[in-house]
Amino acid sequence: MTHADRILMGPGPCNPYPEVIEALTRPVLGHLDPDFLALLDETNERLRAVFDTTNPLTFPVSGTGSAGMETCFVNVVEPGDAVVVGVNGVFGERMCDVAARCGAEVIRVEAPWGQALDPEALVAAHPDPSVIAVVHAETSTGVRNDIAPLGAAKGDALLLVDCVTSLGGLEVHLDDWGVDLAYSGTQKCLGVPPGLSPVSVSPRALERLVDPCRSWYLDLAMIARYVTGEGARAYHHTAPISMIYALHAGLGVVADEGLDAVIARHRRCGEALQAGLVERGFELFAAEGHRLPELTTVVVPTERLPAGVDEAGVRRRLLDDYGIEIGGGLGAYAGKVWRIGLMGHTARLRNVTLLLGALDELLT
Ligand code: PLP
Repeated sequence: MTHADRILMGPGPCNPYPEVIEALTRPVLGHLDPDFLALLDETNERLRAVFDTTNPLTFPVSGTGSAGMETCFVNVVEPGDAVVVGVNGVFGERMCDVAARCGAEVIRVEAPWGQALDPEALVAAHPDPSVIAVVHAETSTGVRNDIAPLGAAKGDALLLVDCVTSLGGLEVHLDDWGVDLAYSGTQKCLGVPPGLSPVSVSPRALERLVDPCRSWYLDLAMIARYVTGEGARAYHHTAPISMIYALHAGLGVVADEGLDAVIARHRRCGEALQAGLVERGFELFAAEGHRLPELTTVVVPTERLPAGVDEAGVRRRLLDDYGIEIGGGLGAYAGKVWRIGLMGHTARLRNVTLLLGALDELLT
């Protein structure tokens, strides 16, 4: 099998949709070319559809998901602000780090890894926080955290949500849920290579932008002059043209298949995989009722590893012999869980069948 033939199922890089590959080969227009700007506007409109929002400031930040995270925090958090952060995995931890670097007083609300956050505990954590921040789909644990109850009870706080692994794979309703700032990544359920971070900012959050923003590159007020198309579009930084073509194409695939159908495809694949694993005696790691379909965590079946092969060796064999990449555990769960992604173009039942068959062959 060649590298190009691989079916990558990992939570990190995944095979993009074929339409996306084609888009990456198109001629590179200038970043102020009217045809490119029209394509950018359409991309942003398509992003509004998947985020389910009317937020005018919805666009792809030039950078990966972490750049989107930083954009959201650095534009609304000032030194001394009380920021409540839900922590039940790596990416909640990262939010704490980013908020602390903005000078926030970070109030952590934790849940054990594998369990969902308690929305009531988040709301009760501080009498008047400026921001409540939560990861919707924790890629490190395979857990979905509930967002809607936070929006209903957020009071004067801004609600900031990480949608990196949920956008395009789970229902996301920014406006109905009262989300003020959200960011995502292209490489997960949108089926596009890594490189951009779709961000959406509510008018309420725009009224509270830190002025001036401490980051020049991620300054939303400056970027908005290029993105929203109101008046003359001013140069801020050179847009990564080919990646925006790719995102436009990935969102086009989602629109053609239908967002609900794409979400249902992710759900069917996750359910089939999780049922197949349970049938084979595997223990799922994430709490029932909060399991992500697009990212399944399973306890490494230590007693079933082939003689002389550790869990990393099994993952290596999956990659070399079957072209399947699954992720190892992160942080305290390194070596203890596997993380199996079925996202975007890789969310196909045939990949579920292939992985289960491969595990049947590899494990004792
Ligand atoms: N948030 C979540 C939930 C993620 O899964 C990731 C990456 O996997 C990130 C943030 C960071 O995104 P990136 O690695 O694209 O910078």
